[in-house]
Amino acid sequence: MTEVLEIRNLCKSFGDLEVLKNINLTITKGSTVAILGASGSGKSTMLRCVNFMETPSSGQIFLQGEMVGTGTPDAMKYAEADLSKLRARVGMVFQHFNLFPHMTVKQNVMEGPRTVLKCDKAECARRAEKYLDKVGLGWKSDAFPSQLSGGQQQRVAIARALAMEPEIMLFDEATSALDPELVGEVLETIKALADEGMTMLIVTHELGFAYTVADRVVFLSQGRILEQGDPEAVLINPKEEATKNFLRGHGSFRLPEPNLD
Ligand code: ADP
Ligand code: MG
Repeated sequence: MTEVLEIRNLCKSFGDLEVLKNINLTITKGSTVAILGASGSGKSTMLRCVNFMETPSSGQIFLQGEMVGTGTPDAMKYAEADLSKLRARVGMVFQHFNLFPHMTVKQNVMEGPRTVLKCDKAECARRAEKYLDKVGLGWKSDAFPSQLSGGQQQRVAIARALAMEPEIMLFDEATSALDPELVGEVLETIKALADEGMTMLIVTHELGFAYTVADRVVFLSQGRILEQGDPEAVLINPKEEATKNFLRGHGSFRLPEPNLD
């Protein structure tokens, strides 16, 4: 199996605050890993390290088996000039979609390939059409973000990330800011990507979704991986007290109904 991403001995501190403590995680091609954990446990910081928005205090990130950056495990360095190309290899979708309000949906999706990848106009347009179709929003190409629902805007943000044709997609609580009735369409979109074999690292509080979509569930507690395994092991039969407490706090989790067809 090909390892798309490897996080090795990742530690991250902000001043005296140790936020990530020796995280080790490998994600193979086509697999989906869900990250769960209480607020403040370090989930976003971990994704930001994987997207090179933060430099580890120590430890390393490998993409396709190749170490990113230079230096030693205790002092990694990323060259400023390489960062935008590196980030293009790792798509990220945030809680707040931050589309450009003065650009159409299609222009929003074309912007990354145009400015970062220097694709020609036809290629930018081809990608925008392809990925807007994939998220079911080809018909909204000429609309402006303000004319879309929150769920549609988030699907555009997903198309925008996909248009870079990244090797892995990261989702940081992509549905947390949405009205409840808009969550489903975004989760469906993410699930379709999983079914197509996209490699993904998903931070979510939607436990039913994690149960259905993830190949592996990782529970983060105070900056450490406390427990991990298949969804059944972590979500149904957790071993650690902190995991059990977290799951009890998300009482709405129900196992999906068995599929009878
Ligand atoms: P989560 O996403 O699991 O809620 P975060 O990764 O956002 O957790 O934050 C983990 C801890 O790191 C929190 O205590 C937060 O206040 C702290 N933190 C995150 N980013 C910074 C920063 N840039 N400077 C200082 N502290 C930070
Ligand atoms: Mg967070």
